[in-house]
Amino acid sequence: MKFLYADGLDFVDPNYNFLEDRSQPGREPYWDDEFMHEHLEEPPFDGYLVSRSIVLGHYIENNSFPAKYTMGQSQRLLRKGVRKFLRIDNPKYDDLMIMGDCGAYSYHKLEKPPYSPKTLLEFYSDGGFTHGCSVDHIIFQFDRNLSGMEAFRDTKDPDAGIKIKDRWDITQENAEVFLRESKQMTTPFIPLGVIQGWSPGSMAKAAHNLVAMGYDYLALGGMAVSAVDTIQVALEEIRKQIPDYIKLHLLGFGKVDQIDDIMDYNVTSIDTTSPMLRAFKDVQRSFFMPGDDSGLKYYASVRIPQATENAGLKLLVKKGVFSQEYLIQQEKGALTALRNYDQGKVDMGTVLGAVMAYTKSVQTNPKTGAPPTKSKMSGIKNLYTELLNDRPWSACDCAVCRKASIEVAIFRASNRNKRRGMHNTWVFNNRLKQFNQKGGINGSADEIFSDQSKAK
Ligand SMILES: [Zn+2]
Repeated sequence: MKFLYADGLDFVDPNYNFLEDRSQPGREPYWDDEFMHEHLEEPPFDGYLVSRSIVLGHYIENNSFPAKYTMGQSQRLLRKGVRKFLRIDNPKYDDLMIMGDCGAYSYHKLEKPPYSPKTLLEFYSDGGFTHGCSVDHIIFQFDRNLSGMEAFRDTKDPDAGIKIKDRWDITQENAEVFLRESKQMTTPFIPLGVIQGWSPGSMAKAAHNLVAMGYDYLALGGMAVSAVDTIQVALEEIRKQIPDYIKLHLLGFGKVDQIDDIMDYNVTSIDTTSPMLRAFKDVQRSFFMPGDDSGLKYYASVRIPQATENAGLKLLVKKGVFSQEYLIQQEKGALTALRNYDQGKVDMGTVLGAVMAYTKSVQTNPKTGAPPTKSKMSGIKNLYTELLNDRPWSACDCAVCRKASIEVAIFRASNRNKRRGMHNTWVFNNRLKQFNQKGGINGSADEIFSDQSKAK
C-alpha cells in the first residue's frame, strides 16, 4: 500500500534559532524553507497529493474558499509544474507519485462543484501531475443498513435522499466527461474515478459504473472521518463489484493507528495528513514512536506556550492573576531545564519541577483564574515523566530528531510542531512499510509505476 502525503505548504525553516525563537533576518518562506522530503533528507512517503482547492481556492459570492498558496506560488506551480514547485524535479524522486484532487471538502456546502472536469484536466496537465482525480461532490451521510441503491432517509429532512442522490449523479457524470476528455490532453496523467455514496450498495454501484466507463484506478471519497469498521463495510461491498486488478485509493484516511485493519481489502494507496495534524492538535498523543506489533506508541509533547503570545496567559496578566515577568521567568526556566536535561546536566526531578511550575500557570483557567485541579496536574505530570524518561527523540534516527533534539518534543509554535509532524510522518511511513513487507497486498512499487510509464 502506497502512502501519499497531502501537502498544504508544510515546510519548516531549517535555520530557525530555537534559543532565540526566531528566524534569521531576511528569510524568505518557501525559498529558504524546506519541504518534508528536504528536511528529512529523504521522502517519508511514496508521493504527494495536492488539492486544487488549496492551490487556487474558489471565489464565489457567499461561499469563497481562499487558496492557501499565494498568487505567486500558484502561478509558479502552474508555470513550472508541481515537481519543480515541490522541488522533487530530480531523477532520484522520479518514483514519487504526484496525485491531484479537487479538495471537495472546500465546496461541500455548494449545490454543485465550482469546477468543471475541463478545469481540473487543465490543472493536472499544466501541473504535470502523474495521477488526477475526477470532480466529485462529497456525500457525508452513510447508512450501512441500506441495501443496493435504496434511498437515504432522514426524518428531519424529507428531501435528504434526493439531494444526496443528486451528488452521486453529479460525481458520476463528471467522471464520465473527465475520463473522455482526459484522452485529449497533451500532458497525460492517470485518471482516477472518484466514488461517492451514502451506503455500501450505492458506493459499489458507483465503482461498478466507473469501471464500465473505462477507469482502472478508483478513489473512494467522503470517508475521512469515518470509523474504520464503516470503511471496511464500504470496501468489502465495492470489492465485490469490481475486478481484483482495479486499483483503489482511499482519499483522506485519518485513522493511521488502524491502518492494518484495511490491509486485507486490496487498497493500492491512501493519502493522509493525520501524523502531521496530531502533532498540532493532540497534545497527549502528539509524538509518534514505533510500537509493538499492535500499533504505534504515543507520547505527549511538553506544552510550553510563549508567555507573551498565548491568549489565555495574556488574559491572566490583564486580570492581575500573574505578572508578565513572572510568567516569562517560568517559561525560560522550563525551556532551559528541558535543554539541560537533554544534555544530561540536570536530573528528572529538576526538569519536572521547572516544567510543572509553568504548567500550573498555563493550566490556570483564564476566565476564572482558578488553578488546575490536582488530578489534572498529576495526569500531565505522568505523561511528561514518561516522555522525559524514555527520551524518544534520542532513540529516533530521523533527521528531525537528529537536528532538533528535545525541541521536537516541545509543543510550541509552528517550527517545533511542524518538525514533530514530519517526524510522525516518518514513523508512520516506516510502520506502513513494515506492514507491506509482512505481506500487504499492494506493497509493490512496480505495479503503480508501470501505469505511469503507460501514461507517458
Ligand atoms: Zn524522529
